[in-house]
Amino acid sequence: MKHKIYIVGMGPGKEEMMTGEAVYALEQADIIVGYTTYLHLLGEHFREKELRATPMRQEEKRCRICFEEAEKGKTVALLCSGDAGIYGMASLMLEIGREYPQTELLVIAGVTAASSGAAVLGAPLGHDFCTVSLSDLLTPWETIEKRLRAAAEGDFVIVLYNPSSHKRKEYLKRACDILLSHVEGDRVCGYVENIGRAGTRAELCTLTELRDRQVNMFTTVFIGNSESEVIGGRFVTKRGYRWEE
Ligand code: SAH
Repeated sequence: MKHKIYIVGMGPGKEEMMTGEAVYALEQADIIVGYTTYLHLLGEHFREKELRATPMRQEEKRCRICFEEAEKGKTVALLCSGDAGIYGMASLMLEIGREYPQTELLVIAGVTAASSGAAVLGAPLGHDFCTVSLSDLLTPWETIEKRLRAAAEGDFVIVLYNPSSHKRKEYLKRACDILLSHVEGDRVCGYVENIGRAGTRAELCTLTELRDRQVNMFTTVFIGNSESEVIGGRFVTKRGYRWEE
């Protein structure tokens, strides 16, 4: 019989935002592997499981720990935030998985920050949107810039993941400057910090204002398209419905 590893997206944080399938996968697991922060977010619920906290970075090592535990005969769950396939570990697990043909990998979908953050703000993703990560750890900054320009040109709503970190405080400003050369400064924007966790904070602003805001790494940023508006204090991207008043 093949060994099993569930690659689980736990959603933004709180248990109510985890899918039933994710809960089921964690229940099946003998061992849950993930960052300390995510293991803490699970709270008391999976206390009887073996928990294995792995340090930040060292993603390959974290994957190999999962395969090694699976080879011992344990059912493993690798815990990721949001959706495991969106800037998460699912792709690397499948790449490394080629070396472990005896292991079956099951990817479990989760609620990604674009979706959970959008719900906090209103309905910013009502039409075509794209996500861009501002992290240049694995992606050259020129590629990020090119994608931002293309997104602005295509009039996409843009969701920015990884908008900031200790070493990249200026990145959001740089991204806004690129966008400001394509779209008007009063474009509707918003951002949400700590979605589904203690200290959730949402803000609406214009693109010009966003340029000078400091956000942290637990924040997801939304930049509207030409159809976005603030309606009753909520960020809405209209789909184009027309009706008689
Ligand atoms: N797999 C995750 C994304 C990981 S990349 C997902 O699908 O949501 C990390 C980035 O995701 C953060 O820098 C932030 O931009 C966003 N993010 C993840 N969880 C968040 C949360 N609870 N609140 C706000 N932003 C979050």
